[in-house]
Amino acid sequence: MSRFLNKKYSCLEPYTPGEQPRDMKYIKLNTNESPFPPSPKVIEAVSREASMQNLYPDPTGKALCESIARLHSVNPENVTLSNGSDELLAFVFMALSENGIAFPDISYGFYPVYAKVFGTDAVKVPLHEDFSIKAEDYYNAGRTVLIANPNAPTGMALSRDEIEKIVKNNAENLVVIDEAYVDFGAESAVPLTKKYDNILVIGTYSKSRSLAGARLGYAIASKEIIADLNRMIFSFNPYNVNRLALVAGYHATEDVDYFNACVKKIISARAWTAKELENMGFSVLPSSANFVFAKKEGISGEKIYTRLKEKGVLVRYFSGKRVSDFVRITIGTHEQMEILIEKCKEVLNEEA
Ligand SMILES: *Cc1c(COP(=O)(O)O)cnc(C)c1O
Repeated sequence: MSRFLNKKYSCLEPYTPGEQPRDMKYIKLNTNESPFPPSPKVIEAVSREASMQNLYPDPTGKALCESIARLHSVNPENVTLSNGSDELLAFVFMALSENGIAFPDISYGFYPVYAKVFGTDAVKVPLHEDFSIKAEDYYNAGRTVLIANPNAPTGMALSRDEIEKIVKNNAENLVVIDEAYVDFGAESAVPLTKKYDNILVIGTYSKSRSLAGARLGYAIASKEIIADLNRMIFSFNPYNVNRLALVAGYHATEDVDYFNACVKKIISARAWTAKELENMGFSVLPSSANFVFAKKEGISGEKIYTRLKEKGVLVRYFSGKRVSDFVRITIGTHEQMEILIEKCKEVLNEEA
C-alpha cells in the first residue's frame, strides 16, 4: 500500500476472481463461462467493426437496447447497458441503496465487496437449512433487496411468483434481481417490470451468451429507474460499453437459434453430470444454472479442487462454514463433463 491511498479504502478486501490460467492445459470449469465460442455471426460482425475502433462507440447503445427490448417485449427506454453486469451492480450499491441493502448470506461474492467499497449498510439474510431462499424473509425489508436468481453458488431458483411476492411486499423498497444464470432454467422476472415500479432486473452476456470476454451487462426496469442508472453511467463513464461489445451483443441477441442450441446442450450436460455425481455418492443441489454445487461426505471442497487440479480440471471451492464441503462445477461440453466424471472417480478411489 502506498501512502497515497485514501484511508477509507485501506481495509478493502477485493473480490477474488476464479483462476484464469493463460495456458489452456486445464479443462476450465471454474468461472461459469460458456464452453462454446460466440455465434459465428458475432465473430464476423466484430471483425468488420474492428476497423472502426478509432471512433467512440454510441454512448446510448441504441441498436443493442432496441434488440434487448424486442427480446423481452419491453420498450428501449426500459433498458440500459453496462461494462459487465458487475458495473450495474456497483451502481445499485452506490446510488440505489441509501437505506442499506439486504442479500442472502450465501450468494455472489461481489455483493459484500461492493457494500464495503461504497459504505452501504448490508444485512445478510441466512439461507434456509436446504440452501433455499424464502420470499417471506425479505418482506418489508426497509432497504434495497438484492437476490441472484438463480442464486450462486447454489444454483437454486425462486419462481416468478415468489419474486412477485417479494416485490409486492416491498412497495417502498427497490428489489433487484440478478439474473446472470436465468437462461439455464429459471423464470425471468422481467415481465414484473411492466407491472411494478420497484423492481430492477440485471442480466449479463457473460454466461448463456458466450461473451464473458466482451464485458456486457444490461438492466431492465421502469423508465425512471433506467434514467437514474443512466444518470450514474453518464456521471462516471459515458462510453462504458465499447464498440466491439455493442456489436457482439447485438448479434448474440439476434442469433436466437445459436443461443437456444447452446443453452439446450448445457442443460442436457447438467442433467447427465448431476446424475453421474449422485451415482458416485455426491449430494447435488437442484441447479437451474450452468453449474452444479455438490459435496461428498468425508472430503472437503478444497481437497476435491486440489486433486482435480492436479489432474487438469479446474473447479471452484469456497471457504465458509456451510459451503466448505462443496465444489462448484461449471457445466462445459458433454466431452468435458465425461472427463470431469472420470477424474472425480479417480480422486475418490485414491482417497478411499
Ligand atoms: C457472473 C455473475 C455476474 C457478473 O457478470 P458480468 O456481467 O461478467 O460482470 C453477476 N452476478 C452473478 C451472480 C454472477 O455469477
